Amino acid sequence: MKSLKENFQKVHVLVIGSGIIGKFNALELSELGFQITIIDPTQDKNSSNAALGLLMGNIYQKRKGRSWTLRKQSLELWPIWLKHLQAFNNELNIEKPLIQLTTNEETFKKLKKFINENNDQNLKSLEGDSIIIENINKAFQTRNIKGIISKKDGRINAGTLLKTIDTCLKNKKVNFLKDKVIKIRKLNTHWIATSKTKKEIKSDVIILCNSLNTIDLIDNLSHNIKLKPVLGQAIEISVNDAEVDLLALPKHFNINGKNIIPVSKNKLIIGSTDEYSTKPEENIFEKLTNIIDKKPNWLVKAHVLKRWSGIRSRPDGEPSPIMKNLGDGLIICTGFYKNGILLAPACSKWVANEIKNYFS
Ligand SMILES: Cc1cc2nc3c(=O)[nH]c(=O)nc-3n(C[C@H](O)[C@H](O)[C@H](O)COP(=O)(O)OP(=O)(O)OC[C@H]3O[C@@H](n4cnc5c(N)ncnc54)[C@H](O)[C@@H]3O)c2cc1C
Repeated sequence: MKSLKENFQKVHVLVIGSGIIGKFNALELSELGFQITIIDPTQDKNSSNAALGLLMGNIYQKRKGRSWTLRKQSLELWPIWLKHLQAFNNELNIEKPLIQLTTNEETFKKLKKFINENNDQNLKSLEGDSIIIENINKAFQTRNIKGIISKKDGRINAGTLLKTIDTCLKNKKVNFLKDKVIKIRKLNTHWIATSKTKKEIKSDVIILCNSLNTIDLIDNLSHNIKLKPVLGQAIEISVNDAEVDLLALPKHFNINGKNIIPVSKNKLIIGSTDEYSTKPEENIFEKLTNIIDKKPNWLVKAHVLKRWSGIRSRPDGEPSPIMKNLGDGLIICTGFYKNGILLAPACSKWVANEIKNYFS
């Protein structure tokens, strides 16, 4: 009898979209032995390349339901994938811990309650007596910042991750097509995807990982999937290092919903905001640097070195993400308006199980 892997080698899977979700699906399935093609017109201009890579799993305050289950599974899968990917790039790492901070007393009380209720050794509250808080308060010239630290969460550099997955996929002989799919149809036992340049790609399975454009490729009258664009923005700023010691700050942290990543003694990345629009705003510096009530001087005087943004898709009328098996070898894995980097391993595992069941 042939092994499952040998059987899978005959199955051709077309992954539409090469953001982190498409690439992770390709990674998981190529490891299982499937023949994979990924198609995307613009590999590096998607929201995955804009992501800051914070992995907020264990710090998530709802400890039940689908979202928590996906986070929990991803937290378990990430160390395994990391080890696998490090064989292709030993610089790829998850930098732990993750620190979530607030200046709002009520929010802090809720964070403390969450820790007490869950009795999780990997979570701790951070107050004025902690050296971390002392340094952050000093940098932001306040006394009001406090929060929690999660030893299990952290950050992976999204750009490095995507490049490492590319190397791994190349090694697995995954085929990459630079083109846009404009139509898909079922023809007998196969799927035919028609591209903008009029190529016809035949496959046994299609996985739709093409964010907002997913709905253009399905019969939405029967499936009724709605996706809204959500803009995320980030800036890299330069500051006067005589006025603030960025190196005394943690490698990444979040204050009042803004993610902050000091990258050198005078450079800092700040992101991201959730806006229901598609156009980056002009006053992005003001918006992103409004971290606490009174901005420290070094932040007022900072200069923007780089700004970037990404448009993600948020499901309308159902929870994020959308993972649906539409039957006949057509699967949707999209709608990651947040946490796509974190959730990629758990979601790809779900897709792989659906495909394995379809062929067994
Ligand atoms: C500024 C910013 C910061 C973020 N920070 C974090 C973070 O810290 N942690 C975290 O986990 N998440 C973060 N995110 C969210 C994360 O980036 C997303 O959840 C994730 O990138 C979604 O990945 P995706 O593969 O679904 O979509 P995308 O990366 O947008 O990829 C979709 C791809 O589909 C392709 N495509 C579209 N239509 C077609 C078609 N017809 N044919 C072929 N290809 C097509 C597009 O070209 C694109 O490459 C952030 C996002 C932004 C913008």
